[in-house]
Amino acid sequence: MKIALCVKQVPDTSDIKWTENNTMQRDGVESIINPYDVYALEQALKLKKELNAEITVFTMGPLQAADMLRDTIAVGADKGILISDKKFAGADTYATGKTISAAIKKELPDFDLILCGQFAIDGDTAQTGPCIASLLDIPQLTYVREINDCNDNILTATRVLDDGIETVKVQLPALLCILKSDFEPQRALINGIIKAQNAEIKTVSLDNLGLNPEDAGIKGSPTYVSKAFRPEVKHGGEKFFCLENREGAEILYGKIKEIGVLNG
Ligand code: FAD
Repeated sequence: MKIALCVKQVPDTSDIKWTENNTMQRDGVESIINPYDVYALEQALKLKKELNAEITVFTMGPLQAADMLRDTIAVGADKGILISDKKFAGADTYATGKTISAAIKKELPDFDLILCGQFAIDGDTAQTGPCIASLLDIPQLTYVREINDCNDNILTATRVLDDGIETVKVQLPALLCILKSDFEPQRALINGIIKAQNAEIKTVSLDNLGLNPEDAGIKGSPTYVSKAFRPEVKHGGEKFFCLENREGAEILYGKIKEIGVLNG
């Protein structure tokens, strides 16, 4: 089984700052692997253990994202592909999906499974995985908590929905978007660290992928960010303590009247 795992480097902070173009300020901010992608990696490692799967990790990002690819190799991934080119800058989710799907098509054309995180904690659109699946014309499962098993090219997975949990089967090749699960993320052992240090990370550019410059980066992005702001968080509210239901209802009624929602 051949797995393409998509991981994104994200800022290690919740204190996001914005550039004048309404994109995130990433310079000078420590980066980490997107936490949901760690869970996707754990699912891939489980398939490696059970089915001898081969894991190729893809990331689209700046050159320093190679270190994150090495971290995934240190815990058991097999190969890292860094999709990096100044011409990819300013990509929206569509251009990102187009570029990553082109890289998977070129570098791992016979993939069986693509794993993504459900969300990236910075952009948080949850669009990239579904975009890759639709561009490659393969089925997708979102909100997957766990891959249960995989036999004869049919994969069974557990999805978490608002109103319950469902177990579904999908024919491979397919793409899954992975949620947080009960796995304890693995730690790298010394052999893994040495393997990762010596691993060759292949870098692919726009020209390598045969993409048209008009289809990548800001030129290939049909969306733009017109405004970015932090929503005002309303804290506290007003608390009332009362012993009787009737007393509570009267206080509440008085308050609702006071703010003008009720007449009379
Ligand atoms: P989600 O869709 O929430 O991510 C879900 C999953 O998809 C992840 O868990 C991961 O598995 C996979 N995934 C997502 N992104 C990647 C990736 N890069 N590599 C591998 N796997 C991935 N961002 C910049 O960094 N620089 C820019 O200059 C920039 N300009 C932008 C301009 C516009 C107009 C817009 C709209 C966005 C811009 N962005 C930029 C943000 C960028 O488009 C998103 O970071 C990217 O498309 C992924 O979307 P997301 O963060 O919502 O990820």
